[in-house]
Amino acid sequence: MIDIKKYNQDNIFSKILKKEIPSKCIFEDEFVYAFEDINPQAPIHILIIPKKSFCSLDDFSSQADELTIFSFMRSISRIAKMVNLKNGYRIISNIGFDGGQEVPHFHIHLIGGKKLGAIVSK
Ligand code: 5GP
Repeated sequence: MIDIKKYNQDNIFSKILKKEIPSKCIFEDEFVYAFEDINPQAPIHILIIPKKSFCSLDDFSSQADELTIFSFMRSISRIAKMVNLKNGYRIISNIGFDGGQEVPHFHIHLIGGKKLGAIVSK
């Protein structure tokens, strides 16, 4: 089970940030790195992660400084525009065990490029 408060530097996204593992970069600035998901669930499936170490959105929203949160949030629409998601898109952030989080470095999924189905399957 992922401890949503406990960050581990060995996680795969930390390694992607350190360029120890390759990734297809979509956008990068001082605060944020965005790259293609290795197993896309829609025509566009991008993962957006902060460069600072937070385990989950729960951790990020309770502990990150204002500039870090601001910069992260601002990057979302910027990236959506860059990849031409003009008809809309979906943001998902899985948190902890019940949320189905697999990688314990906070990330959001930016998904689109087609009409998406139900938010949660029953
Ligand atoms: P989570 O379930 O933690 O919200 O999502 C983790 C996501 O990371 C999954 O959508 C999975 O496909 C993606 N992923 C896992 N390992 C890698 C990797 O090595 N490279 C990339 N680009 N995506 C990965």
